Amino acid sequence: MSNLDKVFKPRSIAIIGASRKKQTIGREIIHNLIEYEFTGAIYPVNPNADSIHSVKCYPSVKEIPGEIDLAIITVPKQLVLGVVDECGEKGIKGLIVITAGFKEVGAEGAALEQKLVEKIKHYGMRMVGPNCMGIINNDEQIQMNATFAPTKLSKGQIAFISQSGALGVAILENAAALQLGISCFASIGNKPNISGNDLLEYWKNESNTKLILMYLESFGNPKKFIEIARGITRFKPIIAVKSGRTVAGARAASSHTGALAGADIIVDEMFRQAGVIRVPSIEQLFDLAMAFDKQPLPHGDRVAILSNAGGPAIMATDALINNGLTLAELSQKTKDDLRHVLSPDASVTNPIDTTAGGNAVIYGKALQILLADPNVDSMMAIFVPPMTEFAREVALQIVKINEKYPEKTILCCFMSQDKENISYLRTHNIPTYIFPESAVAALAAMNEHRKWRLKHEGTFKNFDVKKDHVKKIIKQAYKENRLYLGQSEVFEILDAYGFRVAANTIVKNEDEAAAFAKKLQKPVVLKVHSSTIVHKSDVGGVQVDLRSESEVRHGYQAIYKNLKEKKLDGQIEGIVVQEMVKGGKEVVLGMNHDKQFGPVIMAGLGGIYVEVLKDVTFRIAPLTDFDAKEMLESLRSYPLLQGVRGEKPVHIATVIEYILRLSQLVIDIEDIAEIDMNPFMVFESKSDCKIVDARIKLMDRP
Ligand code: ADP
Ligand code: MG
Repeated sequence: MSNLDKVFKPRSIAIIGASRKKQTIGREIIHNLIEYEFTGAIYPVNPNADSIHSVKCYPSVKEIPGEIDLAIITVPKQLVLGVVDECGEKGIKGLIVITAGFKEVGAEGAALEQKLVEKIKHYGMRMVGPNCMGIINNDEQIQMNATFAPTKLSKGQIAFISQSGALGVAILENAAALQLGISCFASIGNKPNISGNDLLEYWKNESNTKLILMYLESFGNPKKFIEIARGITRFKPIIAVKSGRTVAGARAASSHTGALAGADIIVDEMFRQAGVIRVPSIEQLFDLAMAFDKQPLPHGDRVAILSNAGGPAIMATDALINNGLTLAELSQKTKDDLRHVLSPDASVTNPIDTTAGGNAVIYGKALQILLADPNVDSMMAIFVPPMTEFAREVALQIVKINEKYPEKTILCCFMSQDKENISYLRTHNIPTYIFPESAVAALAAMNEHRKWRLKHEGTFKNFDVKKDHVKKIIKQAYKENRLYLGQSEVFEILDAYGFRVAANTIVKNEDEAAAFAKKLQKPVVLKVHSSTIVHKSDVGGVQVDLRSESEVRHGYQAIYKNLKEKKLDGQIEGIVVQEMVKGGKEVVLGMNHDKQFGPVIMAGLGGIYVEVLKDVTFRIAPLTDFDAKEMLESLRSYPLLQGVRGEKPVHIATVIEYILRLSQLVIDIEDIAEIDMNPFMVFESKSDCKIVDARIKLMDRP
């Protein structure tokens, strides 16, 4: 038995703060429990009533005879802690705290919530809420509507998590209106005890739940979310709305549920890494849910379009192509068969337009022919009703034919406000939309999800590294109150983690520079060494490709001259002499420690133009080899690494390896706040790939 069972599958419930007054939370919950025919017993608790809603009422939870699994608390916030004590003494292990006024209202509320959490822990309870609207379990064995939402939901396979209570009510109403069957619903509120992650884990193996929807405002533990969701999305899709996308929205979110929204790009990447489908609105959440709920995933991206009008077919075609789907190439047999049923002026090339000459019978026949074609993975059935009579017949045909092709994906676009037929289609397992674009967006999401399931899971690599050596260097820097590491320290750390670094040394004068250049027997680069100058080339602090002693001496003087002009010469701590690494492609690898998400890895095309080109991608560490590969492949300029116009490709496996080494470094060493390796010069051969410039900044602590 899972420790959430007392909350989700209780045999007995006490409602503390029960009320006789209609329209109050304490009364509506009792009403809903009864209306839903909860299979267990309920015990209203209120010292001022003998009975509520025809059920005997108790003055306190302790006076209820027998065992109670779950207590639903709706009393004013100042009474909550006392009530929890009583529940604890009674031995109750499950709680739903509906009451608001906790962390979401500021410091005082947060302190109260902290006390609540401690009590819960002390009694070994599990709690949903506070500041929530409750939960629903539609399982036949339970039939529990422990919310104050009035909606009647049909049974089904969708589980829903909502971080907002008010939105929860709207969501439930919408689900009911769309004929979506719900297995479970939980409004989790401030979630200091039972979190979204806990629910995902709980629903992972619940056989009633086949699809999970989430409305989120914040993440408690993003890393854990990725880990758990990854394990679910391979067999149960998760579709999520994460609000607080914009800066203004983020602020609204923090005042709302006491949560801070993370940077939106990172959220996107996080969902991608976890295989979670992110949608921008509740409306789209339902568009997608309808398709995933009622139809199988397509086996491929080839779509056939059948329409009784030309315009919508063209719109659907455009949307398909823009969403990464393709128009199915119809087989000769299909075309011949279509020729027999369609009017002579209709074309038999996908998209198929039955034209105004068509009727419901022709529509049905064409639909069947298209679905029988092995080149067709999914079907977009579009219909613009000219007459209502006709419309019902078409709807009947679609429903009937859908049943014959359970392995194919059929979505319908019924371009009218014909509520009756749309509802008929939806209740008969046909996801039905008003506009082609919404239908295509849902189909495209299904197709992406199909690809996700086929995708290699990837493995975490573990390189043999010198972690202790890095820790020693960092300890020393902290001891000297330095957050920026010196150039030689940075290169030493990179070396300890198996990165190849261009040969270099730091010198104090021209003679030393000339001597090192001579020793290298290669062209060199001179760079200013300074812990305060961030972009060395911006201030004339980098002199490249110096081939002779005199060039080295001139270069040395040039750096001093350039910095003096900018009054920066006082910041020169030395000069780095480095081997010149010629002719490679410049890659940037980096990491930024995000407050919410932890280390976020960046990769992109680098060099001094990185800020201008902005061709970079992010992933949350730790990364699998597959994440690293995908990161590179998602860059706009990835073809440059593969080689264009006869160029040889660079050693991409080395770039992937370096991303993984970086991931290991930032997971191993938590003190690193930022790393920037720019550029990492990459070539055709692994041994030529070298980092020529890197910075490391430490966390502002110890
Ligand atoms: P910063 O980023 O502080 O301006 P870099 O050391 O990255 O300084 O140097 C700026 C640019 O100079 C690099 O993007 C690269 O094009 C070039 N460069 C720097 N070091 C080398 C090197 N060792 N070999 C070849 N080119 C180099
Ligand atoms: Mg640089």
